[in-house]
Amino acid sequence: MEVTFLGTGTSQGVPVIGCDCEVCLSTNPKDHRLRCAILVQINGQNILVDAGPDFRYQMLRAQVKDIDAILITHEHRDHIAGLDDVRPINFRYEKDMPIYATKHVQKELEKAFYYIFTKPFYPGVPRLVFHTIEKDKIINFDGLQITPIEVMHGQLPVMGFRFGDFVYLTDVKTIAPEEMKKIKGVKVLVLSALRHKPHHSHLTLEEALALIDQIKPEIAYLTHASHLLGLHEEIQAQLPPNVFLAYDGLKIDIPS
Ligand SMILES: [Zn+2]
Ligand SMILES: [Zn+2]
Ligand SMILES: [Zn+2]
Repeated sequence: MEVTFLGTGTSQGVPVIGCDCEVCLSTNPKDHRLRCAILVQINGQNILVDAGPDFRYQMLRAQVKDIDAILITHEHRDHIAGLDDVRPINFRYEKDMPIYATKHVQKELEKAFYYIFTKPFYPGVPRLVFHTIEKDKIINFDGLQITPIEVMHGQLPVMGFRFGDFVYLTDVKTIAPEEMKKIKGVKVLVLSALRHKPHHSHLTLEEALALIDQIKPEIAYLTHASHLLGLHEEIQAQLPPNVFLAYDGLKIDIPS
């Protein structure tokens, strides 16, 4: 299984429009972060987790030509705003795009993209087909088993996903004990860490490190970083030896 970080930034991306802090002005490509998404390549399938506003550019930049399914973590715009851009895949391969989301997220997508779901269909609208995620039901996708993990983003439930020894959790503030059981024994963990100052719906760096200490994966990667987190090189230098600050374009291989 190969995982590519297509985007590792928080909702505004980094650099932030109009900001001249040292992170936003940094010339290190690792300080340039598109909105959060990963591509999981396994068994010849390309599975995308989240399609935010940078989806189109992420596909072009990573030279991804086809997507087999999209898993949606939650309905915030930084995770869904790019869904209209699945059209080239609909057209080129003459196929509908399977979208895995909870019932709640499906309703939010129907509001956000009303024109996709309103009959009579305008010719050329994206073709999305919903598949329902239930938090305690394993997703079977073409012989692949994906375990949904519910985390709390303040008051909002967000889906994380386990693919074998790999777990991806973004927009996390807290995790209930029964969901923590699903993460047990994970080898590679991705966890969101926004900044240093407390936030009502995101883990700080310090909180994320404490959670990693509790989960004890072999390796952890941090994502969903704000410009307020600091320069990539400086933050990386302060992390424990098995924790890495993810950056756009990073690829990791996980034996499956
Ligand atoms: Zn987010
Ligand atoms: Zn800035
Ligand atoms: Zn969010």
